[in-house]
Amino acid sequence: MNDVHILLKAFFINTYNQNQTVMAHRITDTCIFCGACEPECPVTAISPGEDSYIINEALCVDCVGHHSEPACVAVCPGESIIKV
Ligand code: SF4
Repeated sequence: MNDVHILLKAFFINTYNQNQTVMAHRITDTCIFCGACEPECPVTAISPGEDSYIINEALCVDCVGHHSEPACVAVCPGESIIKV
């Protein structure tokens, strides 16, 4: 691989990474405040609110790089966590 190929590869990888948008998850008002989700979050994006748990959408990484599926969704008994 010559220098041009290396530069082109770096350009395309960088462009690809910039276009990746990580979605977040949100806990809906059907949350029963059980707390199952909070300890499962690998980036501590979940915390208790007044009467339901809340996901800090700025912190949520969709579990990318941590789990094969969103950990909070997998444990929520009420299916109260949606992708936004
Ligand atoms: Fe945390 Fe993953 Fe749920 Fe996002 S999807 S709040 S990173 S457990």
